[in-house]
Amino acid sequence: MTGDTQADPNGVPQPAAREDNRRRRKPAILEIDGRRLKPATLMMGHGYDPALSEGSLKPPIFLTSTFAFESAAAGKRHFEGITGIRPGGSDGLVYSRFNGPNQEIAESRLALWDEAEAALIFSSGMSAIATTLLALVQPGDVIVHSAPLYAATEALIGRILGKFGVQWLDFPAGASEAEIGAVIERAKTLGRVALIFLESPANPTNVLVDVDAVVARRDFVFAGEDHVPPIAIDNTFLGPLWHRPIAHGADLVIYSLTKYAGGHSDLVAGGVLGRQQLITTIRMMRNTIGTILDPHSAWMLLRSLETLELRMSRAGENAARICAWLRDQPQVERIVYLGFPADDRQRDIYERHCTGAGSTFSLYLKGGEAESFAFLDALKIAKLAVSLGGTETLASHPAAMTHLSVPVERRKALGIDDNMVRISIGCEDADDLIADFAQALRAIGCAAA
Ligand SMILES: *Cc1c(COP(=O)(O)O)cnc(C)c1O
Repeated sequence: MTGDTQADPNGVPQPAAREDNRRRRKPAILEIDGRRLKPATLMMGHGYDPALSEGSLKPPIFLTSTFAFESAAAGKRHFEGITGIRPGGSDGLVYSRFNGPNQEIAESRLALWDEAEAALIFSSGMSAIATTLLALVQPGDVIVHSAPLYAATEALIGRILGKFGVQWLDFPAGASEAEIGAVIERAKTLGRVALIFLESPANPTNVLVDVDAVVARRDFVFAGEDHVPPIAIDNTFLGPLWHRPIAHGADLVIYSLTKYAGGHSDLVAGGVLGRQQLITTIRMMRNTIGTILDPHSAWMLLRSLETLELRMSRAGENAARICAWLRDQPQVERIVYLGFPADDRQRDIYERHCTGAGSTFSLYLKGGEAESFAFLDALKIAKLAVSLGGTETLASHPAAMTHLSVPVERRKALGIDDNMVRISIGCEDADDLIADFAQALRAIGCAAA
């Protein structure tokens, strides 16, 4: 059912006429007259051949736990891919904890955006991160990471992997190249540096990490060594449209596909993309622990990927207009939005790495919790909910919600104050949203009076 990338995911020569329960499919069309087709085009058909599914234009949802082999020899060959005897995954469909047509089509399409060699999809962003860490980290190892990270990622590294003897060292997201280098050097004295884990922009501070600098320092510190720690980056906030870290030398890109990629606030999923060799290692762990995405959600994700560029572009344009308007309102203290870089260093990182400022930002109101709550409670279009990246605009209060469990001192250091409201702009009409924010800002005054 799936396309050429899946037939030959690793560039490993395959037998010309082989038995395969996915049968032979048409070669993938990736260019026309030398013109390389854009992901926005390829999202509608890449990796799927209707002729293999009764001509169904859209892939059916394959609700099956297991797949019939053409022969015993084919079953053996497929298992060589599952167990890792051959890299690149199985060339046949085996069992739904390992692979399935909907998941493989979604993976082949997801990989196109970041020009990754391979991709895997997972039951959530956190299961993607957990499976990656379990696959790459051993007791005694050190993880170097940018800070802050998504709260659950920090808990996973610090509290859960810590129980198994894994150590960590961090550097602030906006750190200079020298600071990053110093932390990597120190980590090396503590144990094997298993991986460098980044999140850019950091959540919820919106501070960008200089991926170029991390790559340069990693390459310098580990030059000529057998083990060079891979760089993994959580690209949920800007990817895949506005930030392509693989092009800057990152080895793995991780997504909560629940956010912009899923984009309709109706599914939970995760993805890991990158070099084939690392993906094979992570795939083995996914096969073992069963963190693959289910076929139905994978199908929904395929639907979402068709409009990814449309949705993200519209949300990004909306956010640019709304932030420019919000910035001048008397009730607003400041806005932390990538389109208004905080200093020259952040501007420089932004210009080197990003092609857009995204649609998620922090709004600091004049006042405190009472003013923030009055604003949030008055919103009529924007919904009061955590999460981001959906077609609808969402607003939340990090200090009282997502970051309630963070100690007050650390919250202060991160700028998660009582007057901070987190907003994710969706695809609505920008002027309607401005009207909504205008009346909600006016409502603060009424509540205070
Ligand atoms: C939401 C999110 C996650 C976790 O993803 P889930 O799909 O909720 O498991 C990880 N990282 C970032 C940056 C996120 O926003």
